[in-house]
Amino acid sequence: QTNTRCDLMLFGALGDLAQRKLFPALYQLERANLLADGSRILAIARSEAGTDEVRNKLLEKLRQHVKPAEFDENIANDFLQRVDYLCLDFADQEGYQVLNEWRDAVNNELIVYMATPPSMYGVIARNMKSSQCCNEHTRVVVEKPIGHDLESSKVINDELGEVYNENQLFRIDHYLGKETVQNLIALRFANNLFASQWDQNHISHVEISVAESVGIEGRWGYFDKAGQIRDMVQNHLLQLLCLIAMDPPADLSADSIRDEKVKVLKALKRITPNMMETHVVRGQYTAGTIMGKPVPGYLEEDGANRGSETETFVALKVEIDNWRWSGVPFYLRTGKRLPEKMSQIIIHFKPAPHYIFDSDQKHLANNKLIIRLQPDEGMALKILTKDQGLDKGMRLRQGPLELTFSETFESDRIPDAYERLLWEVMKGNQYLFVRRDEVEYAWRWVDQVIQNWHDSDEPPKRYASGTWGPVASIAMITRDGRSWYEDA
Ligand code: NAP
Repeated sequence: QTNTRCDLMLFGALGDLAQRKLFPALYQLERANLLADGSRILAIARSEAGTDEVRNKLLEKLRQHVKPAEFDENIANDFLQRVDYLCLDFADQEGYQVLNEWRDAVNNELIVYMATPPSMYGVIARNMKSSQCCNEHTRVVVEKPIGHDLESSKVINDELGEVYNENQLFRIDHYLGKETVQNLIALRFANNLFASQWDQNHISHVEISVAESVGIEGRWGYFDKAGQIRDMVQNHLLQLLCLIAMDPPADLSADSIRDEKVKVLKALKRITPNMMETHVVRGQYTAGTIMGKPVPGYLEEDGANRGSETETFVALKVEIDNWRWSGVPFYLRTGKRLPEKMSQIIIHFKPAPHYIFDSDQKHLANNKLIIRLQPDEGMALKILTKDQGLDKGMRLRQGPLELTFSETFESDRIPDAYERLLWEVMKGNQYLFVRRDEVEYAWRWVDQVIQNWHDSDEPPKRYASGTWGPVASIAMITRDGRSWYEDA
Protein backbone atom coordinates (compact mmCIF):
# COMPACT_ATOMS: atom_id res chain seq x y z
CA GLN A 1 0.00 0.00 0.00
CA THR A 2 1.03 3.62 -0.39
CA ASN A 3 1.50 5.16 3.03
CA THR A 4 -0.77 7.97 2.06
CA ARG A 5 -4.48 7.88 1.45
CA CYS A 6 -5.48 9.59 -1.77
CA ASP A 7 -8.51 11.45 -3.01
CA LEU A 8 -8.62 11.19 -6.78
CA MET A 9 -10.74 13.73 -8.65
CA LEU A 10 -11.26 12.35 -12.12
CA PHE A 11 -12.45 14.96 -14.61
CA GLY A 12 -13.97 13.38 -17.73
CA ALA A 13 -14.89 10.25 -15.82
CA LEU A 14 -17.49 9.08 -18.34
CA GLY A 15 -15.23 9.53 -21.34
CA ASP A 16 -13.57 6.81 -23.38
CA LEU A 17 -10.17 6.91 -21.68
CA ALA A 18 -11.59 6.84 -18.17
CA GLN A 19 -13.94 3.94 -18.84
CA ARG A 20 -11.64 1.85 -21.00
CA LYS A 21 -8.34 2.42 -19.22
CA LEU A 22 -8.44 4.40 -15.97
CA PHE A 23 -11.20 2.63 -14.03
CA PRO A 24 -9.92 -0.84 -15.02
CA ALA A 25 -6.42 0.24 -13.91
CA LEU A 26 -7.77 1.52 -10.57
CA TYR A 27 -9.69 -1.73 -10.15
CA GLN A 28 -6.42 -3.65 -10.64
CA LEU A 29 -4.76 -1.52 -7.96
CA GLU A 30 -7.63 -2.42 -5.65
CA ARG A 31 -7.22 -6.09 -6.55
CA ALA A 32 -3.49 -5.88 -5.78
CA ASN A 33 -4.32 -4.29 -2.44
CA LEU A 34 -2.47 -1.13 -3.39
CA LEU A 35 -5.21 1.38 -2.65
CA ALA A 36 -4.98 2.53 0.94
CA ASP A 37 -8.08 2.17 3.11
CA GLY A 38 -9.88 5.48 3.03
CA SER A 39 -8.71 6.42 -0.49
CA ARG A 40 -11.61 7.85 -2.48
CA ILE A 41 -12.48 8.68 -6.08
CA LEU A 42 -14.70 11.51 -7.25
CA ALA A 43 -15.86 10.84 -10.80
CA ILE A 44 -16.71 14.15 -12.46
CA ALA A 45 -18.53 14.54 -15.77
CA ARG A 46 -21.25 16.52 -17.50
CA SER A 47 -24.09 13.96 -17.62
CA GLU A 48 -26.87 14.21 -15.05
CA ALA A 49 -26.71 11.02 -13.00
CA GLY A 50 -26.63 9.78 -9.42
CA THR A 51 -23.73 7.95 -7.79
CA ASP A 52 -25.55 4.58 -7.81
CA GLU A 53 -26.33 4.87 -11.49
CA VAL A 54 -22.69 5.69 -12.28
CA ARG A 55 -21.41 2.84 -10.10
CA ASN A 56 -23.65 0.43 -12.02
CA LYS A 57 -22.40 1.79 -15.30
CA LEU A 58 -18.80 1.47 -14.15
CA LEU A 59 -19.41 -2.10 -13.03
CA GLU A 60 -20.63 -2.92 -16.54
CA LYS A 61 -17.52 -1.30 -18.04
CA LEU A 62 -15.24 -3.21 -15.68
CA ARG A 63 -16.87 -6.47 -16.71
CA GLN A 64 -16.23 -5.47 -20.31
CA HIS A 65 -12.65 -4.24 -20.02
CA VAL A 66 -11.06 -6.40 -17.32
CA LYS A 67 -9.95 -9.89 -18.40
CA PRO A 68 -12.48 -12.46 -17.12
CA ALA A 69 -9.79 -14.32 -15.17
CA GLU A 70 -8.93 -11.10 -13.35
CA PHE A 71 -12.45 -9.91 -12.69
CA ASP A 72 -13.92 -10.52 -9.26
CA GLU A 73 -17.41 -9.18 -8.58
CA ASN A 74 -16.73 -8.70 -4.85
CA ILE A 75 -13.52 -6.78 -5.41
CA ALA A 76 -15.25 -4.67 -8.07
CA ASN A 77 -18.08 -3.83 -5.67
CA ASP A 78 -15.64 -2.97 -2.87
CA PHE A 79 -13.74 -0.78 -5.30
CA LEU A 80 -16.88 1.03 -6.47
CA GLN A 81 -17.76 1.91 -2.87
CA ARG A 82 -14.86 4.35 -3.10
CA VAL A 83 -16.47 6.15 -6.06
CA ASP A 84 -18.80 9.14 -5.80
CA TYR A 85 -20.19 10.95 -8.81
CA LEU A 86 -20.47 14.69 -9.41
CA CYS A 87 -22.20 16.24 -12.39
CA LEU A 88 -20.32 19.43 -13.24
CA ASP A 89 -19.71 21.62 -16.26
CA PHE A 90 -15.96 22.19 -15.98
CA ALA A 91 -16.43 25.82 -16.98
CA ASP A 92 -18.88 26.50 -14.14
CA GLN A 93 -16.65 28.08 -11.53
CA GLU A 94 -19.29 28.20 -8.82
CA GLY A 95 -19.93 24.47 -9.13
CA TYR A 96 -16.41 23.80 -7.83
CA GLN A 97 -17.52 24.58 -4.27
CA VAL A 98 -18.98 21.09 -4.20
CA LEU A 99 -15.45 19.73 -4.55
CA ASN A 100 -14.54 21.33 -1.26
CA GLU A 101 -17.65 19.91 0.35
CA TRP A 102 -16.70 16.46 -0.90
CA ARG A 103 -13.19 16.88 0.46
CA ASP A 104 -14.73 18.10 3.72
CA ALA A 105 -12.27 17.73 6.57
CA VAL A 106 -10.62 14.65 5.07
CA ASN A 107 -6.93 15.21 4.80
CA ASN A 108 -6.07 12.77 2.01
CA GLU A 109 -3.40 13.53 -0.60
CA LEU A 110 -5.23 15.14 -3.55
CA ILE A 111 -4.74 13.93 -7.12
CA VAL A 112 -6.54 15.64 -9.98
CA TYR A 113 -6.70 13.66 -13.23
CA MET A 114 -7.77 15.64 -16.29
CA ALA A 115 -9.08 13.02 -18.73
CA THR A 116 -10.63 15.80 -20.78
CA PRO A 117 -9.86 17.66 -23.99
CA PRO A 118 -6.62 19.65 -23.41
CA SER A 119 -8.55 22.89 -24.03
CA MET A 120 -10.13 22.23 -20.60
CA TYR A 121 -6.85 21.93 -18.64
CA GLY A 122 -6.44 25.67 -18.07
CA VAL A 123 -10.14 26.12 -17.28
CA ILE A 124 -10.12 23.37 -14.66
CA ALA A 125 -6.83 24.58 -13.15
CA ARG A 126 -8.07 28.18 -12.80
CA ASN A 127 -11.41 27.11 -11.35
CA MET A 128 -9.74 24.77 -8.89
CA LYS A 129 -7.50 27.59 -7.76
CA SER A 130 -10.16 30.27 -7.43
CA SER A 131 -12.37 27.89 -5.48
CA GLN A 132 -9.39 26.95 -3.31
CA CYS A 133 -9.83 23.28 -4.11
CA CYS A 134 -6.11 22.69 -4.58
CA ASN A 135 -2.82 23.73 -3.04
CA GLU A 136 0.91 23.38 -3.69
CA HIS A 137 0.77 19.68 -2.72
CA THR A 138 -1.95 18.71 -5.20
CA ARG A 139 -0.75 16.36 -7.93
CA VAL A 140 -2.16 16.97 -11.38
CA VAL A 141 -2.22 14.41 -14.19
CA VAL A 142 -2.76 15.50 -17.79
CA GLU A 143 -3.07 13.50 -20.98
CA LYS A 144 -1.56 13.99 -24.40
CA PRO A 145 -1.75 15.84 -26.68
CA ILE A 146 -0.08 18.81 -25.03
CA GLY A 147 -0.85 21.09 -27.97
CA HIS A 148 -0.50 20.50 -31.69
CA ASP A 149 2.75 22.44 -32.09
CA LEU A 150 5.32 24.26 -29.98
CA GLU A 151 3.30 27.45 -29.62
CA SER A 152 0.04 25.76 -28.57
CA SER A 153 1.90 23.46 -26.16
CA LYS A 154 3.42 26.54 -24.52
CA VAL A 155 -0.06 27.99 -24.05
CA ILE A 156 -1.27 24.82 -22.30
CA ASN A 157 1.89 24.55 -20.21
CA ASP A 158 1.64 28.23 -19.27
CA GLU A 159 -1.99 27.82 -18.21
CA LEU A 160 -1.10 24.87 -16.02
CA GLY A 161 2.03 26.62 -14.79
CA GLU A 162 0.01 29.62 -13.55
CA VAL A 163 -1.60 27.36 -10.98
CA TYR A 164 0.80 24.45 -10.43
CA ASN A 165 4.53 24.05 -10.05
CA GLU A 166 6.37 21.70 -12.37
CA ASN A 167 6.87 19.22 -9.53
CA GLN A 168 3.08 18.90 -9.23
CA LEU A 169 2.51 18.07 -12.92
CA PHE A 170 2.37 14.51 -14.24
CA ARG A 171 2.17 14.59 -18.05
CA ILE A 172 1.25 11.14 -19.30
CA ASP A 173 2.93 9.36 -22.15
CA HIS A 174 1.47 5.95 -21.54
CA TYR A 175 4.37 4.26 -23.38
CA LEU A 176 6.53 5.14 -20.37
CA GLY A 177 4.30 2.93 -18.21
CA LYS A 178 4.85 -0.18 -20.33
CA GLU A 179 6.84 -2.89 -18.64
CA THR A 180 9.31 -3.33 -21.50
CA VAL A 181 9.88 0.39 -21.83
CA GLN A 182 10.81 0.53 -18.18
CA ASN A 183 12.98 -2.47 -18.77
CA LEU A 184 15.05 -0.40 -21.18
CA ILE A 185 16.35 1.43 -18.13
CA ALA A 186 17.12 -1.83 -16.32
CA LEU A 187 18.63 -3.40 -19.42
CA ARG A 188 20.90 -0.48 -20.15
CA PHE A 189 21.98 0.57 -16.70
CA ALA A 190 22.00 -2.68 -14.74
CA ASN A 191 23.93 -4.73 -17.32
CA ASN A 192 27.45 -3.52 -17.79
CA LEU A 193 27.67 -5.88 -20.75
CA PHE A 194 25.51 -3.50 -22.75
CA ALA A 195 26.76 -0.26 -21.23
CA SER A 196 30.18 -0.81 -22.76
CA GLN A 197 28.69 -1.51 -26.21
CA TRP A 198 26.15 1.29 -26.37
CA ASP A 199 27.63 3.82 -28.77
CA GLN A 200 28.80 4.53 -32.29
CA ASN A 201 31.83 2.27 -31.87
CA HIS A 202 29.63 -0.79 -31.59
CA ILE A 203 26.16 0.03 -32.90
CA SER A 204 25.58 0.60 -36.61
CA HIS A 205 21.95 1.72 -36.50
CA VAL A 206 18.73 1.50 -34.52
CA GLU A 207 15.17 0.79 -35.69
CA ILE A 208 12.04 1.78 -33.83
CA SER A 209 8.77 0.52 -35.33
CA VAL A 210 5.31 1.08 -33.92
CA ALA A 211 2.76 -0.52 -36.24
CA GLU A 212 -1.01 -0.55 -35.86
CA SER A 213 -3.30 -2.76 -37.91
CA VAL A 214 -6.36 -0.66 -37.08
CA GLY A 215 -7.37 2.45 -39.00
CA ILE A 216 -8.62 5.61 -37.31
CA GLU A 217 -11.46 3.84 -35.48
CA GLY A 218 -14.12 6.49 -35.74
CA ARG A 219 -11.74 9.25 -34.61
CA TRP A 220 -11.45 10.84 -38.05
CA GLY A 221 -12.22 14.37 -36.82
CA TYR A 222 -9.52 14.25 -34.16
CA PHE A 223 -6.96 12.31 -36.16
CA ASP A 224 -7.20 14.33 -39.36
CA LYS A 225 -6.11 17.48 -37.54
CA ALA A 226 -3.18 15.66 -35.95
CA GLY A 227 -1.75 13.04 -38.32
CA GLN A 228 0.66 10.28 -37.43
CA ILE A 229 3.67 12.47 -36.69
CA ARG A 230 1.85 14.51 -34.04
CA ASP A 231 -0.14 11.58 -32.69
CA MET A 232 2.72 9.07 -32.40
CA VAL A 233 6.17 10.48 -33.17
CA GLN A 234 6.18 13.69 -31.10
CA ASN A 235 5.47 11.68 -27.96
CA HIS A 236 5.79 7.88 -28.03
CA LEU A 237 8.51 7.32 -30.63
CA LEU A 238 10.70 10.21 -29.48
CA GLN A 239 10.36 9.01 -25.88
CA LEU A 240 11.53 5.54 -26.93
CA LEU A 241 14.40 7.09 -28.85
CA CYS A 242 15.40 9.11 -25.77
CA LEU A 243 15.44 6.03 -23.55
CA ILE A 244 17.67 4.21 -26.03
CA ALA A 245 19.98 7.13 -26.69
CA MET A 246 20.30 8.91 -23.35
CA ASP A 247 23.46 8.89 -21.26
CA PRO A 248 23.38 7.04 -17.94
CA PRO A 249 21.60 9.14 -15.32
CA ALA A 250 23.34 9.66 -11.98
CA ASP A 251 20.41 8.04 -10.19
CA LEU A 252 16.80 7.02 -10.75
CA SER A 253 15.32 10.34 -9.69
CA ALA A 254 12.85 11.95 -12.06
CA ASP A 255 15.02 14.91 -12.87
CA SER A 256 18.21 12.91 -13.39
CA ILE A 257 16.43 10.79 -15.99
CA ARG A 258 14.59 13.68 -17.59
CA ASP A 259 17.74 15.83 -17.77
CA GLU A 260 19.39 13.09 -19.83
CA LYS A 261 16.37 12.70 -22.12
CA VAL A 262 16.30 16.44 -22.78
CA LYS A 263 19.96 16.37 -23.82
CA VAL A 264 19.06 13.84 -26.52
CA LEU A 265 16.14 15.93 -27.77
CA LYS A 266 18.38 18.98 -27.96
CA ALA A 267 20.94 17.03 -29.99
CA LEU A 268 18.47 15.83 -32.67
CA LYS A 269 19.73 17.02 -36.04
CA ARG A 270 17.32 19.41 -37.72
CA ILE A 271 15.80 18.07 -40.89
CA THR A 272 16.27 20.78 -43.50
CA PRO A 273 14.17 21.00 -46.69
CA ASN A 274 16.91 19.42 -48.79
CA MET A 275 17.04 16.40 -46.43
CA MET A 276 13.32 15.62 -46.78
CA GLU A 277 13.83 13.34 -49.77
CA THR A 278 16.28 11.08 -47.95
CA HIS A 279 15.10 11.40 -44.32
CA VAL A 280 11.31 11.56 -44.32
CA VAL A 281 8.49 9.52 -45.88
CA ARG A 282 4.86 10.29 -45.26
CA GLY A 283 2.09 8.02 -46.39
CA GLN A 284 -1.68 7.61 -46.39
CA TYR A 285 -3.46 4.27 -46.58
CA THR A 286 -5.77 3.28 -49.37
CA ALA A 287 -8.19 0.35 -49.38
CA GLY A 288 -6.68 -3.08 -48.91
CA THR A 289 -6.86 -6.24 -46.86
CA ILE A 290 -5.93 -6.84 -43.23
CA MET A 291 -5.83 -10.45 -42.10
CA GLY A 292 -7.96 -11.49 -45.03
CA LYS A 293 -10.60 -8.82 -44.41
CA PRO A 294 -11.16 -5.96 -46.87
CA VAL A 295 -10.85 -2.49 -45.30
CA PRO A 296 -11.57 0.98 -46.71
CA GLY A 297 -8.95 3.62 -47.48
CA TYR A 298 -8.40 6.64 -45.22
CA LEU A 299 -10.39 8.89 -47.55
CA GLU A 300 -13.29 6.42 -47.59
CA GLU A 301 -13.62 6.13 -43.80
CA ASP A 302 -16.83 7.44 -42.18
CA GLY A 303 -16.80 11.23 -41.91
CA ALA A 304 -13.76 11.60 -44.16
CA ASN A 305 -12.93 14.78 -46.01
CA ARG A 306 -12.10 13.30 -49.41
CA GLY A 307 -9.34 15.83 -50.09
CA SER A 308 -7.39 15.27 -46.85
CA GLU A 309 -3.63 15.06 -47.12
CA THR A 310 -3.08 13.99 -43.52
CA GLU A 311 -0.47 11.27 -43.11
CA THR A 312 -1.32 7.92 -41.53
CA PHE A 313 2.25 6.66 -41.88
CA VAL A 314 5.60 8.24 -41.32
CA ALA A 315 9.15 6.93 -41.61
CA LEU A 316 12.09 9.04 -40.50
CA LYS A 317 15.84 8.80 -40.49
CA VAL A 318 16.84 10.61 -37.33
CA GLU A 319 20.39 11.59 -36.52
CA ILE A 320 21.71 12.60 -33.13
CA ASP A 321 24.50 15.12 -33.20
CA ASN A 322 26.56 14.10 -30.21
CA TRP A 323 29.69 12.12 -29.39
CA ARG A 324 27.90 8.86 -28.54
CA TRP A 325 25.69 8.63 -31.62
CA SER A 326 27.59 10.38 -34.38
CA GLY A 327 27.03 8.42 -37.61
CA VAL A 328 24.37 6.10 -36.13
CA PRO A 329 20.98 6.64 -37.79
CA PHE A 330 17.80 5.91 -35.87
CA TYR A 331 15.16 4.73 -38.35
CA LEU A 332 11.66 5.35 -37.03
CA ARG A 333 8.44 4.19 -38.64
CA THR A 334 4.87 4.17 -37.48
CA GLY A 335 1.61 3.76 -39.32
CA LYS A 336 -1.98 2.63 -39.37
CA ARG A 337 -3.46 -0.27 -41.34
CA LEU A 338 -0.12 -2.07 -41.42
CA PRO A 339 -0.19 -5.88 -41.56
CA GLU A 340 -0.02 -6.39 -37.78
CA LYS A 341 -0.02 -4.63 -34.43
CA MET A 342 3.60 -4.62 -33.39
CA SER A 343 6.04 -2.35 -31.54
CA GLN A 344 9.70 -3.17 -31.44
CA ILE A 345 13.13 -1.67 -31.16
CA ILE A 346 16.08 -3.29 -32.91
CA ILE A 347 19.62 -2.42 -31.96
CA HIS A 348 21.91 -3.48 -34.83
CA PHE A 349 25.47 -4.01 -33.65
CA LYS A 350 28.42 -3.58 -35.98
CA PRO A 351 30.04 -6.75 -37.36
CA ALA A 352 33.32 -8.08 -35.97
CA PRO A 353 36.25 -6.08 -37.35
CA HIS A 354 37.81 -9.08 -39.11
CA TYR A 355 35.57 -11.75 -40.60
CA ILE A 356 37.00 -15.29 -40.98
CA PHE A 357 33.96 -17.41 -41.88
CA ASP A 358 32.36 -18.29 -45.24
CA SER A 359 31.96 -15.11 -47.23
CA ASP A 360 28.40 -15.99 -48.35
CA GLN A 361 27.31 -15.75 -44.68
CA LYS A 362 28.78 -12.34 -44.02
CA HIS A 363 25.32 -10.74 -44.00
CA LEU A 364 24.52 -12.74 -40.83
CA ALA A 365 27.52 -11.44 -38.96
CA ASN A 366 26.11 -8.69 -36.86
CA ASN A 367 24.39 -9.13 -33.52
CA LYS A 368 20.97 -7.68 -32.99
CA LEU A 369 19.14 -6.90 -29.82
CA ILE A 370 15.38 -7.04 -30.34
CA ILE A 371 13.21 -5.39 -27.75
CA ARG A 372 9.52 -6.25 -28.21
CA LEU A 373 6.98 -3.92 -26.65
CA GLN A 374 4.04 -5.75 -28.19
CA PRO A 375 2.86 -8.37 -28.75
CA ASP A 376 4.65 -10.76 -26.36
CA GLU A 377 6.74 -8.28 -24.41
CA GLY A 378 10.29 -9.51 -24.24
CA MET A 379 13.81 -9.33 -25.58
CA ALA A 380 15.97 -11.44 -27.84
CA LEU A 381 19.67 -11.14 -28.50
CA LYS A 382 20.53 -12.59 -31.87
CA ILE A 383 23.93 -14.23 -31.67
CA LEU A 384 25.96 -16.35 -34.05
CA THR A 385 26.83 -19.94 -33.29
CA LYS A 386 28.20 -22.86 -35.27
CA ASP A 387 25.70 -24.93 -37.18
CA GLN A 388 25.49 -28.48 -35.79
CA GLY A 389 26.61 -31.60 -37.67
CA LEU A 390 29.77 -33.09 -39.06
CA ASP A 391 29.02 -31.92 -42.58
CA LYS A 392 28.49 -28.29 -41.56
CA GLY A 393 32.13 -27.37 -40.92
CA MET A 394 32.21 -23.87 -39.50
CA ARG A 395 28.96 -22.77 -41.09
CA LEU A 396 27.28 -20.17 -38.94
CA ARG A 397 23.71 -19.74 -37.85
CA GLN A 398 22.00 -16.94 -36.03
CA GLY A 399 19.80 -17.79 -33.08
CA PRO A 400 18.17 -15.90 -30.23
CA LEU A 401 18.98 -15.72 -26.56
CA GLU A 402 15.35 -15.26 -25.75
CA LEU A 403 13.48 -13.70 -22.85
CA THR A 404 9.71 -13.64 -23.23
CA PHE A 405 8.43 -12.12 -20.00
CA SER A 406 5.16 -14.06 -19.89
CA GLU A 407 7.01 -17.39 -20.24
CA THR A 408 10.11 -16.74 -18.15
CA PHE A 409 8.34 -15.03 -15.29
CA GLU A 410 5.17 -17.05 -15.66
CA SER A 411 3.54 -16.19 -12.38
CA ASP A 412 4.03 -12.45 -12.72
CA ARG A 413 1.16 -10.62 -14.33
CA ILE A 414 2.33 -7.80 -16.61
CA PRO A 415 0.48 -4.70 -15.44
CA ASP A 416 -1.14 -2.35 -17.92
CA ALA A 417 0.70 0.95 -18.43
CA TYR A 418 -2.03 2.97 -16.71
CA GLU A 419 -1.86 0.82 -13.58
CA ARG A 420 1.80 1.61 -13.15
CA LEU A 421 1.37 5.28 -14.01
CA LEU A 422 -1.49 5.79 -11.55
CA TRP A 423 0.47 3.94 -8.89
CA GLU A 424 3.51 6.20 -9.47
CA VAL A 425 1.32 9.30 -9.21
CA MET A 426 0.00 8.03 -5.88
CA LYS A 427 3.57 7.62 -4.70
CA GLY A 428 4.43 11.09 -6.04
CA ASN A 429 7.15 9.76 -8.34
CA GLN A 430 7.52 11.74 -11.57
CA TYR A 431 10.18 9.68 -13.34
CA LEU A 432 7.71 8.11 -15.77
CA PHE A 433 6.14 11.45 -16.67
CA VAL A 434 7.19 14.00 -19.21
CA ARG A 435 8.64 17.33 -18.12
CA ARG A 436 7.69 20.59 -19.80
CA ASP A 437 11.03 21.05 -21.57
CA GLU A 438 10.84 17.52 -23.02
CA VAL A 439 7.44 18.26 -24.54
CA GLU A 440 8.66 21.52 -25.98
CA TYR A 441 11.95 20.27 -27.42
CA ALA A 442 10.06 17.38 -29.03
CA TRP A 443 7.59 19.79 -30.61
CA ARG A 444 10.39 22.06 -31.80
CA TRP A 445 11.92 19.14 -33.73
CA VAL A 446 8.63 17.81 -35.10
CA ASP A 447 7.40 21.28 -36.10
CA GLN A 448 10.27 21.79 -38.55
CA VAL A 449 9.44 18.51 -40.32
CA ILE A 450 5.78 19.54 -40.57
CA GLN A 451 6.80 22.99 -41.79
CA ASN A 452 8.90 21.40 -44.54
CA TRP A 453 5.88 19.35 -45.62
CA HIS A 454 3.74 22.44 -45.84
CA ASP A 455 6.39 24.32 -47.78
CA SER A 456 6.90 21.51 -50.27
CA ASP A 457 3.18 20.97 -50.88
CA GLU A 458 3.87 17.33 -51.71
CA PRO A 459 0.94 15.00 -50.99
CA PRO A 460 1.49 11.87 -48.87
CA LYS A 461 2.47 8.75 -50.75
CA ARG A 462 -0.31 6.16 -50.93
CA TYR A 463 0.07 2.64 -49.58
CA ALA A 464 -2.42 -0.19 -49.64
CA SER A 465 -3.82 -1.24 -46.26
CA GLY A 466 -2.12 -4.43 -45.15
CA THR A 467 1.32 -3.45 -46.49
CA TRP A 468 4.28 -1.96 -44.59
CA GLY A 469 3.74 1.57 -45.88
CA PRO A 470 4.87 3.33 -49.07
CA VAL A 471 7.73 1.74 -50.99
CA ALA A 472 9.63 4.99 -50.39
CA SER A 473 10.01 3.86 -46.76
CA ILE A 474 11.85 0.76 -47.94
CA ALA A 475 13.88 2.85 -50.37
CA MET A 476 14.87 5.23 -47.56
CA ILE A 477 16.62 2.50 -45.60
CA THR A 478 17.83 0.51 -48.63
CA ARG A 479 19.67 3.61 -49.83
CA ASP A 480 21.87 3.21 -46.76
CA GLY A 481 22.50 -0.48 -47.54
CA ARG A 482 20.10 -1.71 -44.86
CA SER A 483 16.58 -3.10 -44.58
CA TRP A 484 13.75 -2.99 -42.06
CA TYR A 485 14.10 -5.95 -39.75
CA GLU A 486 11.85 -8.90 -40.45
CA ASP A 487 11.93 -11.84 -38.08
CA ALA A 488 12.76 -14.99 -39.99
P1 NAP B 1 -13.81 11.82 -24.39
O1 NAP B 1 -14.34 10.45 -24.58
O2 NAP B 1 -14.32 12.90 -25.27
O3 NAP B 1 -14.00 12.20 -22.88
C1 NAP B 1 -13.88 13.50 -22.41
C2 NAP B 1 -14.87 13.68 -21.31
O4 NAP B 1 -14.79 15.03 -20.84
C3 NAP B 1 -16.28 13.44 -21.80
O5 NAP B 1 -16.92 12.62 -20.86
C4 NAP B 1 -16.87 14.85 -21.84
O6 NAP B 1 -18.23 14.88 -21.49
C5 NAP B 1 -16.10 15.53 -20.75
N1 NAP B 1 -16.13 16.98 -20.94
C6 NAP B 1 -15.62 17.71 -21.95
N2 NAP B 1 -15.86 19.01 -21.75
C7 NAP B 1 -16.56 19.11 -20.60
C8 NAP B 1 -17.11 20.17 -19.84
N3 NAP B 1 -17.00 21.44 -20.23
N4 NAP B 1 -17.75 19.89 -18.70
C9 NAP B 1 -17.89 18.60 -18.29
N5 NAP B 1 -17.40 17.54 -18.95
C10 NAP B 1 -16.76 17.81 -20.08
O7 NAP B 1 -12.24 11.84 -24.54
P2 NAP B 1 -11.24 10.67 -24.16
O8 NAP B 1 -11.02 9.84 -25.37
O9 NAP B 1 -11.66 10.01 -22.92
O10 NAP B 1 -9.90 11.49 -23.94
C11 NAP B 1 -9.66 12.26 -22.77
C12 NAP B 1 -8.25 12.85 -22.88
O11 NAP B 1 -7.32 11.80 -22.96
C13 NAP B 1 -8.03 13.69 -24.14
O12 NAP B 1 -7.12 14.71 -23.84
C14 NAP B 1 -7.40 12.70 -25.10
O13 NAP B 1 -6.61 13.35 -26.06
C15 NAP B 1 -6.55 11.90 -24.14
N6 NAP B 1 -6.25 10.55 -24.61
C16 NAP B 1 -7.23 9.65 -24.83
C17 NAP B 1 -6.92 8.36 -25.24
C18 NAP B 1 -7.98 7.33 -25.46
O14 NAP B 1 -7.63 6.16 -25.69
N7 NAP B 1 -9.25 7.65 -25.40
C19 NAP B 1 -5.56 8.00 -25.43
C20 NAP B 1 -4.57 8.94 -25.19
C21 NAP B 1 -4.92 10.21 -24.77
P3 NAP B 1 -19.37 14.65 -22.59
O15 NAP B 1 -19.32 13.18 -22.85
O16 NAP B 1 -20.58 15.10 -21.89
O17 NAP B 1 -18.99 15.49 -23.78
